[in-house]
Amino acid sequence: MNDSSPCDVLVIGAGPAGTAAATVLAQHGRSVRIVEKSTFPRYSIGESLIPYCWFTLERLGMLDAMEAAGFQKKHSVQFVNPDGRVSQPFFFEQHFDHPASTTWQVLRADFDRLLLDNARAKGVDVVEGTRVTDFIREDGRVVGVHTANGASGEFRAPLTIDCSGRGSPAVARNRWRVSDDRLKRIAIWTYYRGAVRDPGRDEGATTVAFLPEGGWFWYIPLANDLVSVGAVATSDYLFSETRDLATVFDREVARNKWIEAHLAPGTRCGAPGFDDGPLYVTSEWSYRAKQCAEDGLVLAGDALGFLDPVFSSGVLLALVGGEKVGDAAHAALEADDVSAARFADYGAEMARGVASMRSLVYAFYDPAFRMRDFIRAYPHLQGDITECLIGNVFRDFTDLFSSIDAFAGRTNAAS
Ligand SMILES: Cc1cc2nc3c(=O)[nH]c(=O)nc-3n(C[C@H](O)[C@H](O)[C@H](O)COP(=O)(O)OP(=O)(O)OC[C@H]3O[C@@H](n4cnc5c(N)ncnc54)[C@H](O)[C@@H]3O)c2cc1C
Repeated sequence: MNDSSPCDVLVIGAGPAGTAAATVLAQHGRSVRIVEKSTFPRYSIGESLIPYCWFTLERLGMLDAMEAAGFQKKHSVQFVNPDGRVSQPFFFEQHFDHPASTTWQVLRADFDRLLLDNARAKGVDVVEGTRVTDFIREDGRVVGVHTANGASGEFRAPLTIDCSGRGSPAVARNRWRVSDDRLKRIAIWTYYRGAVRDPGRDEGATTVAFLPEGGWFWYIPLANDLVSVGAVATSDYLFSETRDLATVFDREVARNKWIEAHLAPGTRCGAPGFDDGPLYVTSEWSYRAKQCAEDGLVLAGDALGFLDPVFSSGVLLALVGGEKVGDAAHAALEADDVSAARFADYGAEMARGVASMRSLVYAFYDPAFRMRDFIRAYPHLQGDITECLIGNVFRDFTDLFSSIDAFAGRTNAAS
């Protein structure tokens, strides 16, 4: 397929959602073209995977490439108080006896390039360095995209899937963005070489280390002696004294003894291969799109919605969303019906999965909610919490979330 040849589906963006959608469609025998604004490898944040990513990676035929890439293995998650006290690590395999319970910490430039190479190998056409600026609409439905820079002009297809992440042109153009006011947070992050790595199976653990006023650090050990570390909190809290990123970051490091001690022997650096570090910042982020589709266009991954990253759910939701939208798109093309209505079931299923994760994120930020006390009150629901946290988000969690609401209501009323 060359740039101007027709295809069944256009995919905007070559992140995990876009490459998963395109690969699944190619596996169904569809002709697919990804239009990506960057030239790979390109920098991205979102480095800690969770166990259920394994199943989509298996379907995409990526497991051998993941093994060969030498990514840091991740077996567990732990939580750390500001005074440095560490919780009992939670090992996934204790709950889930399956190869998926060993997951990965990835440099996204490498991980996303592997996903894109795999898509190409499965027959997907990829146009890099080309930004989608708008949609072509005819007779009230989307029939392609306009592009700027790189291959300028337009691409056409019966169906377009917008997987362009948090800057989605579909969300912006249609004014579909609904911000989540309960999750207004920003992040400042960087990388260290030579920082402390815990021994043995704990080496690849994600650590969530608490800060005052509901803030927290991530500490994600990557391969080759690199650590990704970032502070997440409200912008009012982080920028209360200064907007100088280095000053703010260093101040917060000093507020968590575990983070301070782990970073002490290390040297701050930017992400390898990219010289725009060493400190990165992102804006307030959590939102969902009001609609998942219009006629001829459907959304997946961060374009459909973005959830605070405390439980590392973004890549999972992007991969699974890409897989599900790929199947739904193939079925729509089979039926010769790419109307928005064809994607209603897909949209409802994704909304349910994201809502499960969102409920746990709300609980995490509720000052009156203590997970330990909740599990003491509802021991039979511990398994459900774990299922959600490892990424099995499409189960029925009605009992869990009504119990969390009841428990939070009681503790909020008492406090
Ligand atoms: C601070 C922070 C920390 C995070 N930590 C984690 C974590 O530890 N674990 C985790 O799972 N998730 C994490 N996430 C979330 C994760 O980064 C995302 O959920 C994930 O990358 C979404 O994948 P995607 O494919 O939907 O979008 P993206 O990965 O954003 O990919 C979108 C692609 O579209 C391209 N694009 C954008 N606009 C256009 C356009 N107009 N035309 C053409 N191409 C375009 C981009 O260049 C990009 O390649 C974090 C997010 C943030 C902000």
